[in-house]
This record gives sequence, C-alpha cells and structure tokens, in this order.
Amino acid sequence: MSVTSAKGLHPRTQAVHHGTRRSQYGEMAEAIFLTQGFVYDSAAQAEARFVESGPDEFIYARYGNPTSRMFEDRIAALEGTEDAFATASGMAAVNGAMFSLCSPGDHVVAARALFGSCLYVLDLLAKFGVEVSYVDGTDLDQWKAAIRPGTKAVFFESVSNPGLEVIDMQAVADLAHAAGAQVVVDNVFATPVFSRAVDMGADIVVYSATKHIDGGGRALAGVICGTRDFIRGTAEPYLKHTGGAISPFHSWIMLNGLATMDLRVRAQAQSAETIARALQGHAGLSRVIYPGLADHPQHDLAMRQMGSGGTMIAIEVAGGKDAAFAALDRLNIIKISNNLGDAKSIVTHPATTTHQRLSDENKAQLGITPGLLRLSVGLEDAQDLIDDLVNALNG
Ligand SMILES: *Cc1c(COP(=O)(O)O)cnc(C)c1O
Repeated sequence: MSVTSAKGLHPRTQAVHHGTRRSQYGEMAEAIFLTQGFVYDSAAQAEARFVESGPDEFIYARYGNPTSRMFEDRIAALEGTEDAFATASGMAAVNGAMFSLCSPGDHVVAARALFGSCLYVLDLLAKFGVEVSYVDGTDLDQWKAAIRPGTKAVFFESVSNPGLEVIDMQAVADLAHAAGAQVVVDNVFATPVFSRAVDMGADIVVYSATKHIDGGGRALAGVICGTRDFIRGTAEPYLKHTGGAISPFHSWIMLNGLATMDLRVRAQAQSAETIARALQGHAGLSRVIYPGLADHPQHDLAMRQMGSGGTMIAIEVAGGKDAAFAALDRLNIIKISNNLGDAKSIVTHPATTTHQRLSDENKAQLGITPGLLRLSVGLEDAQDLIDDLVNALNG
C-alpha cells in the first residue's frame, strides 16, 4: 500500500490528494475497504498488533479502517492538526470529544447559543458530575468571569446555529489557555474552507461532516481533529470502545466531498451574500442576519476570522409564525428541511423544529423568534433563489 502526502501544499491540492492509500492494483479513485476485520499472517502478528498497531495496521473497523484513515488524514491536513478521528455523526464527534476529555468534578464553560443536541451532550456531562457554566459567547467579559484556574475546557460554535453569532475564537482561546483550559470548537457553520480554527487557538475542532463536507445531504458523519496525543491517546480509546466509528462507505463519500468542498462552499457563500443583500429592506422581513453584511453585530470579526459571511442566512419574517409558515409553503425551489451545507437550498423554521425542545425563555435569549427562518444556500443560480424567496414573501 502506498500513501500520498500533500503536506505543505495548498488546501485545494490537499483536498484532492492527501492521505490517499493505493493498494497493489494502483486504483485511481480511493477504494472502499468495506470490511470490518483484517487477516493476520500469524498468531504472533495478531498478538503484536493488539499490543501496538502502526498507522496502517488495522484490527477492526470500530477502531479504524483504511478508507476512514484516508478521510481522517485528509481532514487533519486541511484543518492543520496532527491527527483526526472520524465518527458516525457530528454528534458522535461532539460526544466523543467532550466525554473523553472530561471527568467528574471538571468545569466546562460553554456558549449558550448551541445546536440543540450539543446542549443535550452538555446536560449529560452535568449529569455525570461535570460543572457546566453558560455564557453569552459574543461577550468576552462573560467568558473572562466564567473561566477560572482549573477550568477543563471551553466549548462553542464559532458561528452559532441558527442566530449566526460569530465568536472571537482567538480572544476566547487566549482566556482559556491562560487558565489551562482546552478549547473545543464546533466549526460546522464556518467550514474548514473559511476558518482554520487551530490557527485561532482551538485545540480540538469538531465537524458534522454531514453538512458541507458531504455537500450532497447523503450521509451522516463527523470528525474530531486535534493533536496526535489527544486523538489517539484520549478520543480514540473512548470512541473505539463505545462504538462511535464511521462506516467506511461514509468515509468514502466524505473523501469525495472534501475534493469539491472548497469550490462548493465559496460559490454557496457568494450566492448567500447576493441573496442577503437582495433581501435587505424587504417589507415582509424585520431582520436579515448575515455575517457578511455591514450591519451584522460581529461583521468586522467575521471578515477577520472567516473572510466571508458563510453559506447561511437567518431572516425574520414580520408577522411571526403564521407569516413564516405561509412564506415557507409558497417556496418552490428552496426545500423545507433541516440539513445544511447541501447543494440544494434548504430553509428551516428553528422554533418549531431543530430548537423546538428549548424553553420559550431560552428561545428568546437566542433570538429564535416565531418568525425566524434559517436558510442554507445551495448551488442553484442565486437569481432563481432570490425570485423564489421574494415570491414567497410577497404572497
Ligand atoms: C448538524 C450539527 C451537529 C450534529 O451533526 P450530525 O452529523 O447531525 O450528528 C453539530 N453541531 C452543529 C453546529 C450542527 O450544525
């Protein structure tokens, strides 16, 4: 087996080539090693491998697999981390990172504006004796007040779901590191294209690969990126024994997704900016939230941190839930669903779907109003999407 390295080359070259393993057949496309087990030449070899296995020596697909290894190597190169562990979903990655890192008695500080399932994982940590403090992620004073010597980790989404608040990663990381805390970033909305979180102080970066990495809404997957020490010494033992491993078939889908991710995400973000500008001032909307617009509260930070407003827009329909539902039902091209980062544009009503579980008070705190819609901009023609939205809002 030969392994291709594109280390030191530009991200788009890495995204196509890095980590490719070729068998003795020299196949061009990455092979799907759809096998749970591996054959040993001898009993002694089996014994040796269970004692210590090298990077290309596999035991069982729950521990690792050649196709998954290609995906892990490639995303680690793109992210700029030493290693990565691929998981069955984004939530397996969040769960794996946080549960392998924390012990009872530890203290975690998290931004309040989080994906519902991420909040669930933090509640679960609290149930097992981890103290979790919540802050407004955009307010550095609150981070400063909550982080204390001995805090184990901070956790936040670099761009929050669905309110699109942008968190100053470097500033939070500096506060965390001064207290000896690890910085865990859920970088899904920012994507590896727009922000290499480790360059801004993150120690551990988690992705739901289900979103922009797949890019076609086909498969669930996740990945944890970090130091070799953390990935192989801490995260892998937890994940391999608790069953969070990715399917080799899904790793293959994600490998192919990575090859086109840069082109897709840049095109989607460009359309998102065009659409956000076109919707600004529309009489049917009370707010257009897009980090790429100058009126976004963290616009300057977003430009510094991502160089783009990203692929997501939040809009607030004037007239609340009824008006929002009526607009949703008039859309033709944009689909009502709850994924994001897909080639197909998708619109979500967070208050009644992804964030339904939150209390009214929590929803209000996070800006999840009855009229709020989250739009994931796809690869369709931007003008067709604008026409679809304006038509739906005009009624
Ligand atoms: C979707 C999402 C997740 C969970 O990912 P799954 O692949 O659905 O398990 C976690 N964090 C954020 C920000 C997400 O958007």
